[in-house]
Amino acid sequence: MMQENINVMARVRPLSERAGLNQKSCLSVDAANSTIYVEKNKEFYKFNKVFDENASQEAIFDTVAKPIINGFLEGKNGTIFAYGQTASGKTFTMLGPNINEHNDDNGIIPRTIKEIFSVLDAKVENKPDSFKYSIKCSFIEIYNEQQYDLLKKTTLKNNINKIAIYQKATFGKAEEKEVESYDACLKLLKHGWNQRTTASTSMNERSSRSHAIFIIRLATEELAETKVITRSSCLNLVDLAGFERQSQTNNIGVQIRESYAINNSLSTFTHVIRQILDGKKFISYLDSKLTTLLRDSLGGNSKTTVIFNIHQDAQFITDTVSVLEFAKSVK
Ligand code: ADP
Ligand code: MG
Repeated sequence: MMQENINVMARVRPLSERAGLNQKSCLSVDAANSTIYVEKNKEFYKFNKVFDENASQEAIFDTVAKPIINGFLEGKNGTIFAYGQTASGKTFTMLGPNINEHNDDNGIIPRTIKEIFSVLDAKVENKPDSFKYSIKCSFIEIYNEQQYDLLKKTTLKNNINKIAIYQKATFGKAEEKEVESYDACLKLLKHGWNQRTTASTSMNERSSRSHAIFIIRLATEELAETKVITRSSCLNLVDLAGFERQSQTNNIGVQIRESYAINNSLSTFTHVIRQILDGKKFISYLDSKLTTLLRDSLGGNSKTTVIFNIHQDAQFITDTVSVLEFAKSVK
């Protein structure tokens, strides 16, 4: 049984294009019935909604993000997660292929920022004397169960290993920056994203081994007759670490520890979602840094959507089935 406030959706990315290789798909999508069918194990995987490879960024935004944004603007917390194996389209979905232009390919985060400011600014224009708002953002990376603040100034170290590129932050205490416009907010997002990418190229695909969480906090004050109504809410937009099967990775040393941290934190995540859906009284938020950080925004009357990004190339069938099984286990 689905709880109304948690939605589980899937987005299947296009087959990868490889010169000379005729990629085959390992699944078929029945968007009308929100189902994905995998021929090999003859399984149907049902979701609240399934997007096929032709779904536009705009359609994803309208269906996935809009209802959560509407709640957020009325004082309800919301969270959107992208879950899937590396290269399945998590970053494409959350951010887009790049954030250097305003274009149709923009993903959920830049579109969300645009929507929020346009709705709020219109409200201020309508009622300049009775409506005020403030937006504060933070941008956090969780890597190996440590929190890093992507909005803190970088001190690039020029040593051979290029470690410690940006600052480790005390857990739960990331910098919050106030922003007054779409442009300022987008600039902040870009800055943080560049920090993450910089670290990633020098540190072993770090970006696919860490969670990135863009957090938007809204506070509003509205004068209604003689009373001032204040509201506050929080919106978390999460690009999760890539799911990878332990047995398939030939990792050594530090990479094993990383894989362990990733899988542990992803399984805690799915476990927590499961507990909320089951209406459990005790929810094990504190078992991972990610769920600890988001505990006030998961459950209760907060709205949550998990997008499972699905890679359909036949060569990835093992991981794809694992991700689909994960999705099934939280439903
Ligand atoms: P992940 O973040 O899950 O590792 P990416 O979002 O980086 O994966 O996607 C991997 C590649 O596939 C990128 O080049 C991206 O632009 C492309 N891609 C992913 N999803 C789509 C999609 N729905 N349509 C077109 N290209 C996509
Ligand atoms: Mg990514």
